[in-house]
Amino acid sequence: MVDELQHVTVQSLLDETTGGWDDDVLDDILNERDMKLVRQIPVSTKRRDDTWFWLFDDKGKFIVKSCYRNLRGEAACPDAEFWRKLWNLKLPGKVLNLIWRACRDCLPTTQALSLKRVNVPVMCPWCQLCEEDGVHVLFQCSFAREVWTTASLNNLVSVWPNETMLTVLKRMSQTASSEQLLMIYMLCWSLWQHQNDWVWNRNATSPFGVRSRACSMFTEWQRAREENSGPNMKQQGVSRSWCKPPAGWIKINVDAACTQNSQQVGVGCIIRDEGGNFLRARSTVLPGRLQPREAEALSLKEAFAWTKEWMNSKCIFEYDAKLLVDAVNSGQGNTYFHAMVEDCIDILKYFDEVLVCFSFRSANMVAHELARAAYSMSGSMEWTCTAPDFIMCMIDSEKC
Ligand SMILES: [Zn+2]
Repeated sequence: MVDELQHVTVQSLLDETTGGWDDDVLDDILNERDMKLVRQIPVSTKRRDDTWFWLFDDKGKFIVKSCYRNLRGEAACPDAEFWRKLWNLKLPGKVLNLIWRACRDCLPTTQALSLKRVNVPVMCPWCQLCEEDGVHVLFQCSFAREVWTTASLNNLVSVWPNETMLTVLKRMSQTASSEQLLMIYMLCWSLWQHQNDWVWNRNATSPFGVRSRACSMFTEWQRAREENSGPNMKQQGVSRSWCKPPAGWIKINVDAACTQNSQQVGVGCIIRDEGGNFLRARSTVLPGRLQPREAEALSLKEAFAWTKEWMNSKCIFEYDAKLLVDAVNSGQGNTYFHAMVEDCIDILKYFDEVLVCFSFRSANMVAHELARAAYSMSGSMEWTCTAPDFIMCMIDSEKC
């Protein structure tokens, strides 16, 4: 590093007048790769002093325990990131347990059993073409391949020769989006059920059957989970399906979509009146390579900024990101995420009467579709009076 830059802070990389990154300064001191990465970080609209925050705490506070855990975890286990991600997935315990056993080579496949001197035929009971191990049952068997094709995930679940289950799943965990990863693990669980049902009962299901068992089990589990976790939310009137706003109010649903390694965030907003009628919608992409919670904060800021231009009604904003909604309503912290939340709160001052509320994901589906659609559009799209075709049915059904 150049000596003169020893004590220079991030603030000095910003342009005094525009408040954004100063391209000339970036150009002077950074190489092309770093410059590109820095430019992908959205800058707060507020002038802020540089500050330190601890990356491994939600509120940015330094805690010795988290430091110790982090150092220990990283040093002790090269797969720590994979395991951390796995245990954080919102999936049924039995599915996580199956994935863990598969990665540890603990599944009772015929190959594992014969290694333990159990007298069983070692070939795959389904195809009879290979020895049965975890990778074969879940990914390589002809039946498994049909299931992955049915679910349009065949490109993601490729297996190279002699790969272990842990290597295969680690790669998928890095390349798949969170939604795809949930589906991959659910399908692994359903494939394993299918193989067992074939071995023990000679019951065969179609690839579609395996897929629909995975989907329905996941939906049922999510519903039960929302019901169990929701007494407080029920008391506060949070419903699993979309509800019309009270008379005299309008409701704005917001959502973000970002895929792993993407340098853009898709943002979807829809505005409806007290009768559930469509007023306006918007799909747009914003530049930024962000973690999910920062992407959510960015999308909410975008929705506030868009609405404040022309809105003079009482507004209820709904978002299915609990952490973000809590932070906007009462959160305090010192992280980059909290800086973005403060930007959101700043814009809220332009509204006369406004509420920011949590909604379940199932009540935020129209905004979700708009956010996803943003990726396939060139530039921003905005609709007034008439909703675009791809959300019309959802709006009609939610109106009833
Ligand atoms: Zn097979």
